[in-house]
Amino acid sequence: MGSLEKPSRRGRAGRSGEDAYATKNVVCGMEVGSYRSYAFIYQGREYRFCSLSCVEKFKVEPEKFCRRASED
Ligand SMILES: [Zn+2]
Repeated sequence: MGSLEKPSRRGRAGRSGEDAYATKNVVCGMEVGSYRSYAFIYQGREYRFCSLSCVEKFKVEPEKFCRRASED
């Protein structure tokens, strides 16, 4: 299924003031960008979270949160 990655540093987009990896944390609604974030791959898509507890919540009901993400 999914794999959990530790916080990565690949968030540097190269352009200042812009973060290509800025993503919304679908669990708590917080923007998670290049700073420490947790990535979880679900159905081939990478979701990013601000904390492990958010990842855990996502893992319980991933489909619910995926739906919320695609509505955005
Ligand atoms: Zn969160």
